[in-house]
Amino acid sequence: MRGLWDRLRRRSEQRAVERRAIPDALWQQTLAHYPFLARRDAADVAALRRLSSLFLDRKEFSGAQGLDVDDAMAVAIAAQACLPVLRIGLAAYDGFVGIVVQPDEVQVRREFVDDAGIVHEVDDVLSGEAIEGGPMMLSWRDVAEGGDTSAWGYNVVIHEFAHVLDMRDGEADGVPPLPTRAARDEWLSVLTRAYEAFCADVDSGHDTWLDPYGAEAPGEFFAVTCEAFFVSPHDLLADHPTVYALLAQFFRQDPAARS
Ligand SMILES: [Zn+2]
Repeated sequence: MRGLWDRLRRRSEQRAVERRAIPDALWQQTLAHYPFLARRDAADVAALRRLSSLFLDRKEFSGAQGLDVDDAMAVAIAAQACLPVLRIGLAAYDGFVGIVVQPDEVQVRREFVDDAGIVHEVDDVLSGEAIEGGPMMLSWRDVAEGGDTSAWGYNVVIHEFAHVLDMRDGEADGVPPLPTRAARDEWLSVLTRAYEAFCADVDSGHDTWLDPYGAEAPGEFFAVTCEAFFVSPHDLLADHPTVYALLAQFFRQDPAARS
């Protein structure tokens, strides 16, 4: 039965790839716009293109505030989203379907209750948001700037999809599901040490290469280091070698060696 199931799955995937094939010109344009995608070797780029077609087949895009999400925009999001799951597989994103694309960042007002039970309202500006079960929100302006902002390790698509991977076992706490207890212990030990050192660096007013937003919480540190790992891997390797090694093991990729 297993063999039959695999065959059926492969056939249905192949149909989806054909149905959502990305035209050559559009794919080349996407690679040119996001150099960190183009830096991968030919096999990775081909695998990424195939995975992007499957992603387009499984996800539903909608534009907010009158924004028309065209093929180029959908492919740009798909290709960046698929980079982290190149080896892990697309099923890691099966927990949600909808992606809402906003023209720009979004102002939101949030309520939170402090330890004394007092309700506070805070204004926040979001360039993206991942919620368990979806939909995901992305600011198109930030997505479009992803080629230029890669120099400082910034990438909103990879950031939000890192949260999706993290939330597969519940909270976005910086610890995605790991295969063994030992792997989880190692993850916690490496990530916690790096996070605390980073927070101390940010608190002391040092200019950090890595986005200081990572000091907000361990979950944000994970997301921010994932962005850097994929778009500016040499810098992350130089700045946070232990975190780089942890992510290389988790994603089964070594982008600094390949680019
Ligand atoms: Zn975040």
